Amino acid sequence: MSIPSDRNRQRPAVSIGLVLYAKEQDTDNWARWLKDELERCMGEDFPDFSWEISVLKRHDFPGQVPLDPLSLLEFGSDIKIEYGLDYVLVLTTMPMKSRFSQGVNGVPSNMLETGAITLSRILELDDQDKRRRALMSLVRHILGHLWGLDHNDDSVMQPRKFWTGHPPTD
Ligand SMILES: [Zn+2]
Repeated sequence: MSIPSDRNRQRPAVSIGLVLYAKEQDTDNWARWLKDELERCMGEDFPDFSWEISVLKRHDFPGQVPLDPLSLLEFGSDIKIEYGLDYVLVLTTMPMKSRFSQGVNGVPSNMLETGAITLSRILELDDQDKRRRALMSLVRHILGHLWGLDHNDDSVMQPRKFWTGHPPTD
């Protein structure tokens, strides 16, 4: 009988589902990129876990534009339970309704372990690098909320009205 060494011990898996609206244009492109990039970043930042990022395309997004973030959170939470995922991010290029300010980019619910994110403002940025950096920062910010992090000024948890890809981005 041998005692398993640390090296052989399995890393605990963490699964994140990226839920997208199948009818939107161009989702395949950025969803694929986001999945790969998120897998890479999470693997680098938290190497003790094995990261399983999946893309789920749905035809049955709830509601009318602007989308109600609360409906999106409930929708995402149902999918999280259905697929047995640890966390879910519902992503859309359509604008979300905001109760408090003009535009909202992302709404986390750490109780539901689900976040709703819109790319509608980010897609207005003028080049692809900026759009990608902005999207990645916003996604990391929302995941940070799901994991119970508070806002601060020197990390991606810095609160921002506009996500432009400016640092701090990690
Ligand atoms: Zn925040």
